[in-house]
Amino acid sequence: MVDAARRGTGTEGVKGGVGITALLVAAARAIETDRHDSLARDDYAEHFVRAAPASAAWPVRLHEVPEGDLNPLWGRFARYFGLRTKVLDDFLLRSAHAGAHQVVLLGAGLDTRAFRLDWPPGCVVFEIDREGVLAFKHDVLDGLATTRKAARVPVPTDLRADWVGALTGAGFDASAPSVWLAEGLLFYLPAAAETYLIDTVDRLSPGGSALAFEVKLEKDLLAYRDSPIYTSTKHQIGIDLLSLFDGGPRPDSAGRLTGKGWSTSVHTPFDFTRRHGRGPLPEQNDALAGNRWVFANRPRT
Ligand code: SAM
Repeated sequence: MVDAARRGTGTEGVKGGVGITALLVAAARAIETDRHDSLARDDYAEHFVRAAPASAAWPVRLHEVPEGDLNPLWGRFARYFGLRTKVLDDFLLRSAHAGAHQVVLLGAGLDTRAFRLDWPPGCVVFEIDREGVLAFKHDVLDGLATTRKAARVPVPTDLRADWVGALTGAGFDASAPSVWLAEGLLFYLPAAAETYLIDTVDRLSPGGSALAFEVKLEKDLLAYRDSPIYTSTKHQIGIDLLSLFDGGPRPDSAGRLTGKGWSTSVHTPFDFTRRHGRGPLPEQNDALAGNRWVFANRPRT
């Protein structure tokens, strides 16, 4: 926790620290929504961006960005988030339709999938994030005309602590299949918290459960410190992602799950750019080079 405070992750809400990254992703989703070749729609995203003083002046449409798509932050990086949203929307819906009716969003931030996606009947979406982030989210949602498409249960807790009690106390049933998501989360957590999360998901997941998560593979995070994505995010909106990421060695979470009997597959985002015909492709000095999206399924017995 001392370490977390030093990195600013102790800052509450979306005013700074790691919470503000939820606004960054929301702005990217707002821009994606408005694109003529949009992969995913999130009509709520721009309202979060406009409501927070930290982001009120950020663009929510590509035409508000002077260089448009050529801007490394609001062009290529935003496209990355748009693609990630689409791919994980598909994974969650596929898993829910296959019978995983509990959806657990770990580090949910300003995710509005409970409102956006056409869930099968009986689904419940648990949203875990820190209290201040969820409070901001509710303030904004309360002022909008929203229609929930699944039951929604906010679970304010810190994923660096023992969060299982908060989830089960909120009504989560460990005997029923679930689909779990850690989107844009694990690189902010200390390795021990990531391993605890993976072991906990394993322990709470009967056959038929699924998990998707995002990791960064590079051994030295600073290797890409001069990349256009990191420098533009820092200079244009003052978010120094590298100072928010946990700097310690990362665990092999995909391997750990395979060892526990899960079937896993690991993809680069570029695999999906090629599949969908839209999204970022590899480039020199690329902060996205080490990003991997991991999909895991626990077979039914
Ligand atoms: N998953 C969301 C998305 O993709 O839109 C949000 C991603 S945002 C980059 C990272 C989120 O992780 C933030 O909302 C932040 O508050 C949350 N987070 C980071 N560390 C956390 C922790 N220790 N406990 C709970 N949430 C945490």
